[in-house]
Amino acid sequence: MEAKKVFNFGAGPAKLPQSVLLQAQKELLDYNGLGISVLEMSHRTADFSQILNSTEALLRELLKIPENYKVLFLQGGGSGQFSAVPLNLIGLKEGRCADYIVTGAWSSKAAKEAEKYGNVNVVHPKLDKYTCIPDRSSWTLDPSASYVYYCCNETVHGVEFNFIPDTKDVILVSDMSSNFLSREVDVSKFGLIYAGAQKNVGCAGVTVVIVRQDLLGKALKECPIVFDYQVQAANNSLYNTPPCYSIYIMKLVLEWIKSSGGTEAMEKLSKQKSSLIYDLIDSSNGFYSCPLDVECRSRVNVPFHIGSEDCNEALEKLFLDGASKRGMISLKGHRSVGGIRASLYNAVTLEETRALAAYMNEFLKDHQPQ
Ligand SMILES: *Cc1c(COP(=O)(O)O)cnc(C)c1O
Repeated sequence: MEAKKVFNFGAGPAKLPQSVLLQAQKELLDYNGLGISVLEMSHRTADFSQILNSTEALLRELLKIPENYKVLFLQGGGSGQFSAVPLNLIGLKEGRCADYIVTGAWSSKAAKEAEKYGNVNVVHPKLDKYTCIPDRSSWTLDPSASYVYYCCNETVHGVEFNFIPDTKDVILVSDMSSNFLSREVDVSKFGLIYAGAQKNVGCAGVTVVIVRQDLLGKALKECPIVFDYQVQAANNSLYNTPPCYSIYIMKLVLEWIKSSGGTEAMEKLSKQKSSLIYDLIDSSNGFYSCPLDVECRSRVNVPFHIGSEDCNEALEKLFLDGASKRGMISLKGHRSVGGIRASLYNAVTLEETRALAAYMNEFLKDHQPQ
C-alpha cells in the first residue's frame, strides 16, 4: 500500500529524507551482508567502527572541522549538554563563572542548569518576551568568565543568530541543535558546538559535540564519567555503548546532505524556503504576523500568528484543521507560545514549503476581512 502523502513540519523529532528511510529499511535485516541488523551489532566490531568513523569523517568534511577539534557522539540529548557543558568547562578558570545569552526557552533552561555548578551571569537585561536578540551594546561580558554560551537557534521562539558573538578571549559555546548543518559555520570561532540529531541530522538518541582539544581534561570532579569529554574523546566515543543505531541513521543523513550539495546547498535552500513563508506573512496586510525582529527571524523554525499577537485562536484552529486535511502535520506552535510554527529543516523540500505557502494564500483569501 502506498503511504499517504504527508507534509511534516514538525519541530523534532522531525522529517527524515525519504531516501534515508528507504536505505535503512533495505539494510534493516541484513547490514552489509552480515546477516544481522545494525541494531544487533556489537559496538566493538570492525563494521560498527566503520560506521562511526565514516560519520565523523562526513561531519568533518561537511563542516570543515579543523584538526584540533574532537568530535564526540554522546547520549543525553541537548538537555544533557545543558549539564555537560558547565561540568566540563565552567572550571576552566578560577571563580567558576560563565556568561549566558538568553534568547529563548532552550538557553533559559541551559542557564538554569549551569547555576548548579557555578556562577551564571546573564549578560543582558532580562527579556520579558523572546522575540529579539538584545542589542550587543547592552551586553556586559565578563572577561574572567570560563565561557560565553548562547543558543544559535531557539527552536520554540524562532530566534536565530545570523552573526557569531565576539567574545574577545573568552571561549564561545553554542547549542546548534536546530540549525546544525543548515548553513556553513566557522568552527574555529568556537570552543564547543553541540547539536542533538533529531532536528536536522537524524533521529533522537545521539548528540554531536565538537570541542576544541585544549579544553579537554578540565571537568569538575563531580562530572559523570559518561559526560566527561576527555574520557569520551580518549575512547573515540566508545567509553560505553554509544547510541549505535542513531549514529548509523546520522551517517545516512550526512551522506544525503553531501550528495545534495553539502552544507552550502542546505544554506541556500533554507533561505529560499523561509523567505517564501516570511514574504507571504509580510505581504499579508497583517492577516499573518510574525512576532520576531526581522534580523533574528529563524530560517528553520518559522512561528506566526493569524491576526495580531493576541490573536485569533478560532481562525488558527481552523487553519490547523485545514492543514491537517491536506496532510500538513505538526504545525501547531509550541504549547508555551501558541500560534503556528512551521519547521523547515533540511529534509523539508522546497515543493513541500511551496505547498504550505499555497495553502496559506488560499486561507488568506478565504478569511481575510472584507
Ligand atoms: C530540542 C532542543 C533541545 C533539547 O533537546 P533534547 O534532545 O530534547 O534534550 C535543546 N536545544 C535546542 C536548541 C533544541 O532545539
